[in-house]
Amino acid sequence: MIPPAFEYHAPRSVGEALQLLSSLGTDAKLLAGGHSLLPMMKLRFAQPAHLIDLNRIDALRGISEQGGQVVIGAMTVETDLLNSELLKARVPLLPEAVQYIADPQVRNRGTIGGDIAHGDPGNDHPALSLALEATFTLQGPSGERQVAADDFYLGTYYTALADDEILTRITVPAFAPKTGYAYEKLKRKTGDWATAGAAVVMRLDAQGAVSHIRIALTNVAPTAIRAQDAEAALMGRPVSDATVEAAALAAAAVCDPAEDLRGDREYKTAMAAAMVRRAIRRAAERCA
Ligand SMILES: Cc1cc2nc3c(=O)[nH]c(=O)nc-3n(C[C@H](O)[C@H](O)[C@H](O)COP(=O)(O)OP(=O)(O)OC[C@H]3O[C@@H](n4cnc5c(N)ncnc54)[C@H](O)[C@@H]3O)c2cc1C
Repeated sequence: MIPPAFEYHAPRSVGEALQLLSSLGTDAKLLAGGHSLLPMMKLRFAQPAHLIDLNRIDALRGISEQGGQVVIGAMTVETDLLNSELLKARVPLLPEAVQYIADPQVRNRGTIGGDIAHGDPGNDHPALSLALEATFTLQGPSGERQVAADDFYLGTYYTALADDEILTRITVPAFAPKTGYAYEKLKRKTGDWATAGAAVVMRLDAQGAVSHIRIALTNVAPTAIRAQDAEAALMGRPVSDATVEAAALAAAAVCDPAEDLRGDREYKTAMAAAMVRRAIRRAAERCA
């Protein structure tokens, strides 16, 4: 299907994009990789009269380290995350998980910012950002504000971004030594969204007890969610059959998936628990 007609704008700076966004109001949509927005326009779920293309704004691209934090421009494409030596060294969960997002064509155009701003619980970056304790910089007409990933996902396709704001960068703490991590994603075939996914970031103390743990889930609730009771089931305890099972059951208890072609609620919930078990085990192995 062909999308409805729209006027195309190609600003060269964030300031110019913000001015356009303010003057055009809710008739305008930001365009990043277009891999979520354009299908929605073709299906008439979105009918913006104006598209503001962010692709010519170089300042929104790139990956750098600043004082123990890794800063990622919102327009950085998935392929650049996948190939980043800095991420492989400092936040290895990201490049590892990105290889399971879509296919090379989508990863060459799709951006981390678009994946997050879209607010789709089936996208992988939302749960990853929760597990990584990411902070988002949102820039609007009156300046910048920082929003933690924990406070960003408000509902399906609904985030803390205001209509006149742009997500400019994603900031993630670099991993401390001996941080274990894993992203387990069950999908029906290569290139598909998750039936269920689990992201885990973990550290153990000298006695082998869990001293840091974040568990977040993909596509099993109206938004990406943190499984905080599952984290509590592990915190301060060793990773054993009993604690892993307690965490998996606690994670299943917070799932509220929508039934669709990927499965019914019971199946998706059971698969989320299975992904949590696998992710905890793999993350724990990597804490050494
Ligand atoms: C076949 C296929 C398979 C896919 N599989 C997966 C998958 O397995 N996992 C996964 O995570 N994703 C998957 N995707 C989605 C893909 O990753 C998209 O690229 C992503 O969801 C949106 O990123 P984008 O850069 O294309 O954004 P766009 O489609 O351009 O924009 C998406 C939305 O975000 C808004 N937006 C974009 N950038 C900004 C910004 N900087 N600030 C504020 N708002 C902004 C837009 O206005 C729009 O509403 C798949 C897509 C396709 C087509």
